[in-house]
Amino acid sequence: MGLEFTTGRLADAVAWARKFSLFQYPFATACCAMEFMSLWGPRYDVARFGAEFPRFSPRQADLLMVVGTVTERQAPVLKRIYEQMCEPKWVVSFGVCASSGGFYQNYSVTPGIDHVIPVDVYIPGCPPRPEQVLDALIMLQDRIQSRQGWSERMYELDQRKQREAQGVDAVTKPGAVR
Ligand code: SF4
Repeated sequence: MGLEFTTGRLADAVAWARKFSLFQYPFATACCAMEFMSLWGPRYDVARFGAEFPRFSPRQADLLMVVGTVTERQAPVLKRIYEQMCEPKWVVSFGVCASSGGFYQNYSVTPGIDHVIPVDVYIPGCPPRPEQVLDALIMLQDRIQSRQGWSERMYELDQRKQREAQGVDAVTKPGAVR
């Protein structure tokens, strides 16, 4: 009980620190990027959420912001960037083009980046308003605090599978993972 309480509190503190120190990698491809940039101005002041520093190396980022249209030719690049980011990591899909392909219903555009990589939060709009992005950041922070991020769950599941394969843990159903 004492150890569980201590490690639980420690995990909460780590999650709190993570949610206020997000380092974004902006994968910006199209017109949504114009609206995305307004977040850094004094009016919307994304620094309040600890997410003001973009990182242009995926190895230094833990939040992949996919901003704009992603074509089929760009999809493998996006996947590679995602794979180069260290765990735990999160993905936000910015705008309808990134989330569903938008109005580009044709062979050359990916019909949503979740066909390529997992997504934690989707932001609707063409382009989304900056207030929607702040709303999405708050949603993501809640998910980080409660350790519900998609990639974190999958990472945990993967770790468990590896331990099970080594005979360390009892077999656990995937649905049992938080
Ligand atoms: S959602 Fe609209 S603004 Fe954003 S990339 Fe697509 S067409 Fe451009």
